[in-house]
Amino acid sequence: MSAAPGRPQASSHRSAQHEGTPVSAPRPPLKPLEQALAELLDFAVALDGVESVSTFEADGRVLAQNLLSALQVPPQDNSSMDGYAVRCADLSPAQNLLSVTQRIAAGSSGTALAPLSAARIFTGAPIPEGADAVVMQEDCDVVDDAQVRIKSLPAPGQWIRRAGEDIRRGAVVLQKGARLTPAALGLAASIGMHVLPLARRPRVALFSTGDELVMPGQVAPEAMKPGSIYNSNRFFLRTLLSRLGCQVSDLGIVPDRLDATVQALHGAAQGHDLILTSGGVSVGEEDHIKPAVQALGALDLWQIAIKPGKPFAYGRVHNAHFIGLPGNPVSSFVTFLLLVRPFLLKLQGVTELAPATFALPAHFTWARADKRREFLRVRRNPAGGLDLFANQSSGVLTSAVWADGLLDNPPGQTIAQGDLVRFIPFSEVLG
Ligand code: AMP
Ligand code: MG
Repeated sequence: MSAAPGRPQASSHRSAQHEGTPVSAPRPPLKPLEQALAELLDFAVALDGVESVSTFEADGRVLAQNLLSALQVPPQDNSSMDGYAVRCADLSPAQNLLSVTQRIAAGSSGTALAPLSAARIFTGAPIPEGADAVVMQEDCDVVDDAQVRIKSLPAPGQWIRRAGEDIRRGAVVLQKGARLTPAALGLAASIGMHVLPLARRPRVALFSTGDELVMPGQVAPEAMKPGSIYNSNRFFLRTLLSRLGCQVSDLGIVPDRLDATVQALHGAAQGHDLILTSGGVSVGEEDHIKPAVQALGALDLWQIAIKPGKPFAYGRVHNAHFIGLPGNPVSSFVTFLLLVRPFLLKLQGVTELAPATFALPAHFTWARADKRREFLRVRRNPAGGLDLFANQSSGVLTSAVWADGLLDNPPGQTIAQGDLVRFIPFSEVLG
């Protein structure tokens, strides 16, 4: 989300932004997301240390060094078809009968191909010396065990995969800072890497704040006291952190008291790179995160001009980074994707931090322009447009399950049917 907000394409439909009547105590303007993200990422200095990890265990992790190939892939010219390896010069419309003198399966190697002969060959088997094309078996008639008739004259190079056509010896196959996808793991294996040099996993202490919070499993739904709610943030935050390669210490629920919050933060700073909290970071009397962080370290960022997710905080507690997410589940979820995700990736040395976004037409109207940049929960429909979840309240987690992404709507902007809007698929940011 480093790009400035704005419509992917000009739209005729615009609404004026009304600032409203000034209230008695003027508050400093909220920080725009781009600025907050830039400042946040400046704090995210890559962690020291390289870990050697089995390629099997490296999904989603980040390379700490360039991977150079010590060999070429494929190692030799080989056949991409089951058929016959031939010398093109031997063949003409008048002369298309060849004697079959050898059989080369994948994993074996043949001998030099004599003139007027063919080698029975299978996919992946090395091309014998002297052969310059493969004729697929569908274009051949087997005359007898020892002879084959070539029905379609081959062009030189046909059905041959060239040595080194995928990877040249010495080439950088994957770059430092790349996140490893399943295909990248296969590529690393194709150059013989069974262990990979990876960025150290960020150690993250996670805790939830709120006296109302109860853990599923501890109290049955029918036994919930009035005012209690289940702690849902803990579940998605833990999962999101793990997907980003973090080692999570889940410190549970911290009560809404300043001393308890200070104590929890102080303890969590030991042995962790980041303390991540949810809730208690607004301006209410029961919100103790801000003063607690200020008592132990510094608060560098607080409150962002986005909706949902205004009460976001970044600071430091002793030597650890601190990020405070809002308590409302959707706010917590969205701010994690927009801000915590790139922060954690940058700690691991990832260079590509911004998700791909797409311009798609809105198949709904949005008449309520907001002063803040809004991230609406939307879903792609089969007609190629975006549908809007009806209830955009920051407490309605159903919206985040129904949706398959976020619509990034600039401040002060209404949306008309058919307007092109910026869409961030969850697939780009969930992990
Ligand atoms: P807070 O940011 O602490 O003022 O919380 C805002 C809203 O989010 C309140 O309605 C809380 O009950 C709710 N909330 C806070 N933490 C959680 C959590 N871990 N799981 C579910 N809801 C929460
Ligand atoms: Mg609270």
